[in-house]
Amino acid sequence: MRLDKYLGDHNLGTRKQIKEYLKNGRCTVNGIVAVKPDVHINELSDEIAFDGKVLSYARFHYFMLYKPAGVVSATNDKRNVTVLDLLKEENLKNLSPCGRLDIDTEGLLLITDDGVMIHNLLSPKKHVDKVYEVHIAHELSEEDIKRLTDGVDIGDKNDDGSVKPTLPAVVTQKERDNDGNPVIELTIHEGRFHQVKRMLEAVGNEVLFLKRLSMGPLFLDEKLAPGEYRALTDEEIKKLS
Ligand code: URA
Repeated sequence: MRLDKYLGDHNLGTRKQIKEYLKNGRCTVNGIVAVKPDVHINELSDEIAFDGKVLSYARFHYFMLYKPAGVVSATNDKRNVTVLDLLKEENLKNLSPCGRLDIDTEGLLLITDDGVMIHNLLSPKKHVDKVYEVHIAHELSEEDIKRLTDGVDIGDKNDDGSVKPTLPAVVTQKERDNDGNPVIELTIHEGRFHQVKRMLEAVGNEVLFLKRLSMGPLFLDEKLAPGEYRALTDEEIKKLS
């Protein structure tokens, strides 16, 4: 791979900044100063150092995407643009989204080739928190909030046929949106199919706009615009592992 791409994958700066760092002699390849961004390196066998510190080869790749509406959370799809279509990476092999957001849902989506991390974040046993910004058709009553908070019947059943209510959730009321619709933040600990929409429907309401803000310790970067993405920082990867 190209040296500037390798350094970019280590979150050392934009391509432009990296070009400048290289010009200033801050990077070595096998002990020799490398100044050209387009030099090809072998990330498995070459020793790359930046400011004297040897960089380790990243075995897995981790990206945070601000999923826009209108894009499907799939690796390929004949009719729709997929979240992977939005990545401009050279090697998309083995990358997949960690869970799914509906086509009309926006927000945080982790994309990685680390299958263990995906498993841990999605495992129903781990109850990883997911926080959503939810714009709804009408104000929630005290009774609605209590039902959502306690756990509500959204039509799912246990193996023995009994009702399987949602796990207790957290509802925080926010300011109304620009159209005057009520907005809540809803924290859930499961990832059932269309869960947020079905929870609101169960209390006679309707979701008008849905955006995921966080998943466990990972928060949507406010600097990203819909459709943009960035590599996770080492700190974010550590928190998720
Ligand atoms: N709940 C939903 O209803 N849709 C999503 O995309 C995510 C959570």
